[in-house]
Amino acid sequence: MVGLLEPFTEVSQKEKQQHVEDLQTKCPYCGKPLVLRNGKYGQFWGCSAYPKCRFTRNVE
Ligand SMILES: [Zn+2]
Repeated sequence: MVGLLEPFTEVSQKEKQQHVEDLQTKCPYCGKPLVLRNGKYGQFWGCSAYPKCRFTRNVE
C-alpha cells in the first residue's frame, strides 16, 4: 500500500515546490520577475520593474 502511494506523494511535493518557486520569483503585483537585491539590512527580493513597482519580499 505504501509503495502505491509514493508516486502520488512525489508529484504533489514537486508541484508544491514549483508553486513556491513561482511565488518567490514573480512579483504578485505586476507579474515581473523578482531580482535579488542587497539593501541596508541585507538581501531581499525586489521587483525588476522597480522603481515603477515597489514590491519587495524578505529572503527566508
Ligand atoms: Zn512588480
